[in-house]
Amino acid sequence: MVNEELLALLVCPMGKAPLRREGDVLICSRCGPRFTIKDDIPNMLIEEAELPPGCGSLADLECVKSGAAKLDVP
Ligand SMILES: [Zn+2]
Repeated sequence: MVNEELLALLVCPMGKAPLRREGDVLICSRCGPRFTIKDDIPNMLIEEAELPPGCGSLADLECVKSGAAKLDVP
């Protein structure tokens, strides 16, 4: 069981938008990538998140396009 208080503190690493929980994944409420929870530990690495449909790369994410986040990759 994941600590719900911890989950409430987690935000999207790209745009700091709140996350919602669906089963064993956390989904950014704005840009939509799915972060898996494994062994009660959410993997918040955007590089390992499953991108939403229609999103070919990190640069397509709404949180990135909104300018709230800067990509480290060129
Ligand atoms: Zn996001």
